Amino acid sequence: MRSPNSRKPSYVALVEKIELHVEKNEVKVRVLWYYRPNDLYHGRQNFYGERELLLSDRDDVQSVETIEGKCIVHTLDDFMELKCIREHDYYCRFEYKVHSAVYVPERADVYCLCNKAYNPDVLMVECEKCNDWFHSECIGMTDGEVKKLEHYFCSACSSRDEEVNGDEVDDDEVNDVEVAAPKRRRTG
Ligand SMILES: [Zn+2]
Ligand SMILES: [Zn+2]
Repeated sequence: MRSPNSRKPSYVALVEKIELHVEKNEVKVRVLWYYRPNDLYHGRQNFYGERELLLSDRDDVQSVETIEGKCIVHTLDDFMELKCIREHDYYCRFEYKVHSAVYVPERADVYCLCNKAYNPDVLMVECEKCNDWFHSECIGMTDGEVKKLEHYFCSACSSRDEEVNGDEVDDDEVNDVEVAAPKRRRTG
């Protein structure tokens, strides 16, 4: 939806209802606003992805004229499945209560040594033993190095193995290392 400030990006809202105001011959839409992480009370934290939106409880009535176009707000899981991300693809995993600045859910699953919520824009690698996911940076590797890994065991799992008997992992029993790569973007 059109922002009153033309230099700012468009607003995103969930249309709840379309109302016809007969007396004024106007069509209005009742909406719930989506917030961009930058607009939040706490500001943008580094686990927010570039395409993340939070569904707020702030409702509003707007003229149908302010609608610029349609976009799709996916769940995070569906967003991860997208083959390519178009300009109008977003995802939402949190709701945001504007007056109390409370997030729903209040906690998200956290990963890695840094205990951060998942950010689909950042490359992660899965430990084949504990199945936790790790950022390249947090394990002291580059994205390029991580993509070339054939197996990955996090430092906790590696040292635990050594304590037992230094067993070599049987190659037949482990799957190839899984890497969650940031999606390739296509704009326009
Ligand atoms: Zn990390
Ligand atoms: Zn591990």
